[in-house]
Amino acid sequence: MPQLPDNDPPWLKGLNAPQREAATLLEGPVLVLAGAGTGKTRALTARLAQILSQRLAWPSQILAVTFTNKAAAEMRHRLMAMLGPAAEGLPFVGTFHSIAARMLRQHAELAGLRPNFTILDSDDVQRLLKRIILDAGLEEKRWPARQLSGLIDRWKNRGQTPDAVPAGESFAFADGRGAELYARYQAELLALNAADFGDLLLHMIRIFEAHPDVLEDWQRRFRHVLVDEYQDTNAAQYRWLTLLAAKSLGGQGNICCVGDDDQSIYSWRGAEVANILRFEQDFPGARVIRLEQNYRSTPHILAAASHVIAHNRGRLGKTLWTEASHGEKVNVTGVWDGPEEARLVGDRIERLLREGVSPSEIAILVRASFQTREFEDRFIGIGLPYRIVGGFRFYERAEIRDALAYLRLVSQADDALAFERIVNTPRRGLGDKAQARIATHARAADLTLPAAAQALAETDELPPAARRALASFLTNLRRWRDQATSLEPGALVQMILEESGYIEMLEKDRSADATARIDNLSELVRALEAFDTLSAFLEHVALVMENDRADTDAKVTMMTLHAAKGLEFDHVFLPGWEEGLFPSQRALDENGAAALEEERRLAYVGITRARRRATILHAANRRVYGQWTSAIPSRFLDELPEPHVERTTTLSGGASLWRAALDERDPFADVARGTSRGPGWERASQRGGLKPKRVIEGRAISSTVGGPARTDIAPGARVFHAKFGMGTVKGQDGNKLEIEFDQAGTKMVLDSFVESA
Ligand code: ATP
Ligand code: MG
Repeated sequence: MPQLPDNDPPWLKGLNAPQREAATLLEGPVLVLAGAGTGKTRALTARLAQILSQRLAWPSQILAVTFTNKAAAEMRHRLMAMLGPAAEGLPFVGTFHSIAARMLRQHAELAGLRPNFTILDSDDVQRLLKRIILDAGLEEKRWPARQLSGLIDRWKNRGQTPDAVPAGESFAFADGRGAELYARYQAELLALNAADFGDLLLHMIRIFEAHPDVLEDWQRRFRHVLVDEYQDTNAAQYRWLTLLAAKSLGGQGNICCVGDDDQSIYSWRGAEVANILRFEQDFPGARVIRLEQNYRSTPHILAAASHVIAHNRGRLGKTLWTEASHGEKVNVTGVWDGPEEARLVGDRIERLLREGVSPSEIAILVRASFQTREFEDRFIGIGLPYRIVGGFRFYERAEIRDALAYLRLVSQADDALAFERIVNTPRRGLGDKAQARIATHARAADLTLPAAAQALAETDELPPAARRALASFLTNLRRWRDQATSLEPGALVQMILEESGYIEMLEKDRSADATARIDNLSELVRALEAFDTLSAFLEHVALVMENDRADTDAKVTMMTLHAAKGLEFDHVFLPGWEEGLFPSQRALDENGAAALEEERRLAYVGITRARRRATILHAANRRVYGQWTSAIPSRFLDELPEPHVERTTTLSGGASLWRAALDERDPFADVARGTSRGPGWERASQRGGLKPKRVIEGRAISSTVGGPARTDIAPGARVFHAKFGMGTVKGQDGNKLEIEFDQAGTKMVLDSFVESA
């Protein structure tokens, strides 16, 4: 194709030949299938500009789907800068959800809704489902709302209405009542004049199918359809799209989809990479354009990413090259443990900032959201501004807030907000009615909530069951408060979470994120281990929370690999590349070989976010609840091409631990699993099933939390505690030991924290 005539409009200037083709071939279906950083999104934006400037469609006649609302805003912004008022409006540029919501408002009545219907967030959905489960005479404990909402989500992602749910899948909930409850939920939503996110697309699909005239109107309206990140569309989105694009402009379908099969990372949300592979069948005569020049990264980064992804079998295979000069090799650094990882990343970021790099050009991308905690704590300590994108900051997560509420209440008996938050979490029979009585009494007697609760527990104003529950809760609180002085903060919170039934609640919860929530709590225990007193820790948390309010613009970004799709940063840090954590053992357990390939695609996405430098880290040891566990370097590290990688380690002397560990990968597969599951609490079914963990420094520490008390330690025994040193066991109460330490005096500690000396 001839290169760029001089009178090219600005958005076409600088595009390479195939990009230019993607931007200017405006009739018929086009698929751009290309690797990361090859300018797919840029070409798609240029295409939009081209359509508008040629007046092939009004802004309201263009349907353009982006991955996030932010990406849509950016696209609009760029178009406005290029075209001015001609690009104003663009009502149908957005995510699948936002566009479908806008359309559904126009046809609400065809779905049995009014145009002002509410869109429920996931909290609302949970509450509603809970009620439906109870109304159906089921026990919510046994059949948790979260699990049902996960199933309904899956069905909706596939475009399945209640009558279309496969019978076998209905059995996944309440002995075959899944579909029936789904139907009730849909009825209830209509009665409430509400829709959940999945409904937005599902209602529209059903309307299209039942009302051909409506569909035709929309098909005629959309003269051009554009889709970014096409590899991650799910069945419902795909159906919605193909219905709409079927006829635009005389039956040919002016649809342009761009994507990369190597970046399909949402199969767990129903995304089907097959959609991109069958494009040519769906749209006969489609022009398939491949882009091979990468404009984002250095050759080292590109080579590293390409090498890793080449280990996947199920892929189309692509060539990527760049004209960029060599730059720095991908750095792989082995560190001693998690805190050192956070310290080192903090140091390197500070150095970059001193060199004049803007914080907004730096990102830390993690596999699991709990990983941000160690970085958050460190960054607060050194005053490094950061933001967490697409998720809650660690201390804002619901389960962490719950745990903090317990701790606050232990530390400060009058903390009414904390009391309110957890008085019935986990559920202990102190529901709305009982709480209302406590509140009334507090007002009448001018007492704080906790004090009013104390007073009520001593009268017979509450029904007997509630009174007993309240009295026992208050007794527990008092006991925890007594122990707070002698127990280490980490051990204290662990004990509270177990004795309050909180962990048990999560263990029984079969929803997808329950395990992640348990992981987060284990991470909290680890965080607490760094503090001598509970109040010091609570003050630290208050500071962390406060920090966010002082909002400056330029911040280091932390987010999950999943959320980073489509983005780019000069400097990218990729911590925690260890077996079990990344690839995630949980994913592998659930989905086997297919999951490994998806994990590898995540690695590819992660590395290719970097423009100038990618730094991968792995720790030799992870603190796994009170015990050090050897971590095994991720297999993805072996898949990096040596000439493009510089490997360093902060470990000194001898054969470095991580290399040694590498040789032992297979025999210790279970160790890695222990790491991935998160320290502290294993799911009940796995208790006792764990092999003793490999431990460094020659200390053999075993035990699983919450498990039976140790039998190898009896009163009189000499023991060693990592923090308090040597001591003599004086008494044993379940898995707690009273120990008279030689230096530190008498303390209660959990038996998993000590070893026989
Ligand atoms: P991903 O697969 O990660 O979504 P992508 O293929 O969408 O990547 P873009 O984000 O569009 O790639 O482009 C990557 C970077 O390369 C951007 O900074 C973009 O501005 C730049 N770029 C794209 N095409 C060109 C070009 N022809 N000339 C110069 N820079 C370009
Ligand atoms: Mg892109």
